[in-house]
Amino acid sequence: MPRLGLGVFRSGSGKGTQDAVRWALDEGYRHIDTAHIYHNERDVGIALRESGIAREEVYITTKLWNDDQGYDQALRAFERSLEQLDLSYVDLYLMHWPVPERRRDSWRAMETLLADGRCRAIGVSNFMVDHIDSLLEYAEVLPAVNQIELSPYLQQVDVVARCQELNICVEAYSPLTKGRRLDDPRLMAVATDVGRSAAQVLIRWSLQKGYVVIPKSANQKRIRENAQVFDFALNEDQMAILDSLEENLHTAWDPSNPP
Ligand code: NDP
Repeated sequence: MPRLGLGVFRSGSGKGTQDAVRWALDEGYRHIDTAHIYHNERDVGIALRESGIAREEVYITTKLWNDDQGYDQALRAFERSLEQLDLSYVDLYLMHWPVPERRRDSWRAMETLLADGRCRAIGVSNFMVDHIDSLLEYAEVLPAVNQIELSPYLQQVDVVARCQELNICVEAYSPLTKGRRLDDPRLMAVATDVGRSAAQVLIRWSLQKGYVVIPKSANQKRIRENAQVFDFALNEDQMAILDSLEENLHTAWDPSNPP
């Protein structure tokens, strides 16, 4: 799984997402994170095909939305996503939220899809420690990935530790705090120190923590900027400054209360 991916939440349907994915692929991104609820699976598929890059070179994630949870519903939702993407498989299918009561049947459906080879891996998103522990009671296959909101401002140390114990890959969404903390003077001081932008420092923090990271941009210049994160490193002191920024900042919904 490529460590850096492009998120396409709110990149728009139609040209907005198609351009973003095309620019990202041109820049060398080989990982795109979409979801049924983003209403742009079709555009991701179009941009991928038009790029001419071989299907197997690009890692595509999509997600099962809450309304589609349940065994039969999840199977149908997956087929609809594949049809929208116009692909024969996805690399990773995630349960978007831990919907009470229905997530057990949904997981069973996802295990079926994995066994049938329709997706290469299955995982979860927004699973907190309790959700993970209850999944362990019935899962035959453990999630390959847990995609959760993560940044220095929301470090979720308990969930990260549980995932690492279970060998579940941690994937950081909203790694740029949706832009809300990019002007934090403490973050900007680190950025000045390393001669990079605040966004690059946040992405680098995620990478150095060992997370897969999926910043979103629909802007060509920022898509390029966000990929230029493999030619510098944050030192221990700089990581410690970032680690001290915790403030439990949720920019998405709080997963203890899924919508
Ligand atoms: P991010 O933290 O990635 O922030 C995106 C915002 O930052 C946009 O407004 C973008 O604007 C701006 N931005 C991007 N790059 C830069 C830069 N270099 N400098 C300044 N501003 C920048 O937020 P997201 O919530 O979109 O999270 C990323 C991805 O994670 C989503 O797209 C989605 O794929 C996934 N996600 C998953 C969730 C889940 O429940 N599983 C929930 C939320 C997100 P612009 O586009 O104009 O550049």
